[in-house]
Amino acid sequence: MGRVAIVTGGSRGIGEAISLALKEQGRTVVANYGGNDEAAKAFTERTGIPARKWDVGDHEACIAGCEAVVAEFGEVDIVVNNAGITRDGTLHRMTYEDWNDVMRVNLGGCFNMAKACFPGMRERGWGRIVNIGSINGQAGQYGQVNYAAAKSGIHGFTKALAQEGAKFGVTVNAIAPGYIDTDMVAAVPEPVLEKIVAKIPVGRLGHAEEIARGAAFLTSDDAEFVTGSTMSINGGQHMY
Ligand code: NDP
Repeated sequence: MGRVAIVTGGSRGIGEAISLALKEQGRTVVANYGGNDEAAKAFTERTGIPARKWDVGDHEACIAGCEAVVAEFGEVDIVVNNAGITRDGTLHRMTYEDWNDVMRVNLGGCFNMAKACFPGMRERGWGRIVNIGSINGQAGQYGQVNYAAAKSGIHGFTKALAQEGAKFGVTVNAIAPGYIDTDMVAAVPEPVLEKIVAKIPVGRLGHAEEIARGAAFLTSDDAEFVTGSTMSINGGQHMY
């Protein structure tokens, strides 16, 4: 059995593409998901990749979920923290619940998964963690104080944990996608989307597979010397 990977939110959108890319690399992949059983079932039928449900924002559920993966597949060598949600609204409309849900799932999920899987990687002297941030965590975005804060937090989390993992062969990197044509972006109203696309130098939305290729590289043996970095994959929309 090859290296074992968990991709959170791995049954749809960007996560599905990452699950497939890692499988093509010879990894044993388990896709986690949050609640959409129908999508997860269809994903497994399409890809042959097992899907396991737990809420990444729930600490105990993450520990139990990862323990079950270890019991079934032996260990966890690679974690891609991809699960994410939006609860958009300007600050004066945003509820505490909107804030908390996004922080709990998007940022809390990275902590919970790292707590469950980092110790084993450290002990074995090899590990790869890739956290999916966002262009909106780098640049901010109107109506997204919760999402921008959580994603920006992911970038800080990545750099801090990279320093802890470096001497144990565990790399920790982030990918900051720009606008990618998934269900999440399909929820953006058409006129808003048109304005967004107009600001992308490459002139189009990105594809999930373009993010997946970045994740495949960052989780490969070839990326041993890459840690604490943020790979921006955004068609040139934000350069820094
Ligand atoms: P989708 O909404 O298409 O898919 C989200 C995935 O996350 C689903 O598999 C969903 O599971 C899962 N998920 C949601 N909440 C939880 C939870 N609490 N526990 C476990 N799994 C959960 O999102 P995208 O593919 O568009 O986005 C993937 C990641 O990329 C996110 O982190 C997003 O913030 C980030 N991103 C996306 C961009 C874009 O343009 N699309 C741009 C920048 C960043 P289920 O199917 O069960 O609901």
